Amino acid sequence: MITANRLPAQLPPPRWQQLWRESVTDPLELLRLLGLEAQAGRLLPGADTGFALRVPRGFVARMRPGDPADPLLRQVLPLAAELAPQPGFAADAVGDLAARSAHGVLQKYAGRALLIATGSCAVNCRYCFRRHFPYAEETAAAGRWREAVAAIAADPGIDEVILSGGDPLSLSDAKLTELTAALRDIPHVRRLRLHTRLPVVLPERVDAGLLAWLDALPLQKVVVLHANHANEFDDRVDAACAALRDRGCTLLNQAVLLRGINDDADTLAALSERAFAAGVLPYYLHQLDRVFGAAHFEVADEAALALVEALRQRLPGYLVPRLVREIAGEKSKTPL
Ligand SMILES: *Cc1c(COP(=O)(O)O)cnc(C)c1O
Ligand code: SF4
Repeated sequence: MITANRLPAQLPPPRWQQLWRESVTDPLELLRLLGLEAQAGRLLPGADTGFALRVPRGFVARMRPGDPADPLLRQVLPLAAELAPQPGFAADAVGDLAARSAHGVLQKYAGRALLIATGSCAVNCRYCFRRHFPYAEETAAAGRWREAVAAIAADPGIDEVILSGGDPLSLSDAKLTELTAALRDIPHVRRLRLHTRLPVVLPERVDAGLLAWLDALPLQKVVVLHANHANEFDDRVDAACAALRDRGCTLLNQAVLLRGINDDADTLAALSERAFAAGVLPYYLHQLDRVFGAAHFEVADEAALALVEALRQRLPGYLVPRLVREIAGEKSKTPL
């Protein structure tokens, strides 16, 4: 007799994985979807880089058709401008290779260990330092977490583990469960922090399986989202944020200051207000990491400081993000 035990049902992949797989990866298709075929001449020539276009269709749906300056589109569209000469911009802009302390573990700051959980993201952001990091060898999940967990267990000074990447929520629930099964036995680890853009760009990721994983965690949970513009939020993102808060997660947002995308006071104020409407407090506003290919997004420090001062004059203090830059070798993010 065939029983359920002997023939386990083949579970379909979760819906978010299906949606991720269906992401737009062809720049010309993206332009077509938005009625912007005329922009094709500005695209990065095809043979580039290993950092291809990738964007979930739900995020594309939040872009304004017919607008080549759309702030969401500009974050993801590979443009020929990336090839312009960029003095001062480098491949490893933030000293990640020097800070590696074990397989996939970065330890730059007191009390906190950051795991490069995976190299994958749901979206490829053109300004990201990740475009040059040798992730294939450096992810903690690739070693089934063992070396990373051993390094954390051996250092009683670490009370917070940060899952970053890449995007840790691009890992399966099973992989995440495997990690936390190992972490929860380390007595000095009290907090788990996730640095993730997935609840914004692919909110379907926040599904029953993920919430069950969070529910079962005996740690304080902080989720640092990444949205750069108010238009990135919609009803689905609101629902994902509400579900995360229901599971006891503290929600923060970090944004990157990006020329032509969010470098004016109205846009930044709208981002803070919109994030807070979703129950998310602004945390950092990052000055761009000076990675090769991103120079056309850079905002000068004086302009950045003036923007934050303008925010301070019009928003409650808790809606004003801290303007910081990451400087290799420093013991914290550096306030401007
Ligand atoms: C940014 C970062 C952190 C987190 O810093 P916070 O100021 O606590 O948000 C931790 N570790 C590394 C390696 C980082 O780059
Ligand atoms: S790490 Fe964050 S900023 Fe970089 S590509 Fe992934 S989602 Fe975008």
